[in-house]
Amino acid sequence: MTTETQEIICGPCDFREIAKLAVVWCPTCDEGLCDECSGHHRAAKATRGHQFIDSDHYKEMPRKMIEEFNKCPEHDEKYELFCPKHATHCCVQCVKEKHAKCTGITLLKKVIENIKSSVTATTIMQQIEKRMEGLSKLTKNRVENINRIDKQSSELCTDFRRMRKEIDLVLDEFEKELSEQVISVKNTQSSIVDNTIAQIATHESVYKEMYSALLKVLAYGSNFQVYSAIKKIEEKLMNEDKEIELFFKNDNGLQEINIALECSQQLSSLLTEDFSLATVRTSNSTLECDLKILDNLEAQNLSTTARTTVSELNIKQYVQTRRSTISYI
Ligand SMILES: [Zn+2]
Ligand SMILES: [Zn+2]
Ligand SMILES: [Zn+2]
Ligand SMILES: [Zn+2]
Repeated sequence: MTTETQEIICGPCDFREIAKLAVVWCPTCDEGLCDECSGHHRAAKATRGHQFIDSDHYKEMPRKMIEEFNKCPEHDEKYELFCPKHATHCCVQCVKEKHAKCTGITLLKKVIENIKSSVTATTIMQQIEKRMEGLSKLTKNRVENINRIDKQSSELCTDFRRMRKEIDLVLDEFEKELSEQVISVKNTQSSIVDNTIAQIATHESVYKEMYSALLKVLAYGSNFQVYSAIKKIEEKLMNEDKEIELFFKNDNGLQEINIALECSQQLSSLLTEDFSLATVRTSNSTLECDLKILDNLEAQNLSTTARTTVSELNIKQYVQTRRSTISYI
């Protein structure tokens, strides 16, 4: 008998309409006893052997769990019997109505007299332990996953930095090669042009010679001499024109040369905004967590060796292989 505040009231006193708090609990009588009543209880012949428990300890027990089987809700009678065939507790009326043909009906108190040390109690404890263990493994596993992601993130950054350095080296090498190419083109071209300028100078001097020769003949020569010089110069001019024509046709140094940087498409696209050099790929895999509980827990026979129920909380983590690959051009 309890109050709303979970205080235990003395049963016998309550019966006499006296409100008194219990100091002990008699599990046999299923009621609390005050100081005075517990004294009577110990002394009376019928209740002399009853073992009390401290009322404080009784209060600690989960009331909802332990009170449910006090009475049969259907017949308002105490559960006193046990049917081994149905492996269930029953009141006298239950037996009459539902277990009339069942054999081996026995006293519930007999069946459960060793329940505290029974396999069933141990098994149930183990089952709860296994589940708790499983759940704590699960928590550990989740924490490990976060730690792994942490490690993978720094590995990923290191990997990228390493690749970046490699790319840098490749680019350095390429730049060196490129400038060597430019110098070589420039050098080749300037030696060609030098040669061309020399050719032009040769032709120039031929014209200069003709010009000053004709000037001199015009100043001091006779008409005949001028005529003769003009004829010679005409002939020379024709030859010279042919040579000049050939020179214009064939000389490499007369080409207009421009040089420009032509990048490969990959390198150009690298510099566009929407080009992605690398991405971080997240891959998921299912955590396999089987909570297997045999469903015939209630069918256990309390009086004989209980079938051991097995609960398994298997956690298999498909360990992800590191998949954060980085692709680059
Ligand atoms: Zn009392
Ligand atoms: Zn008692
Ligand atoms: Zn009943
Ligand atoms: Zn039965």
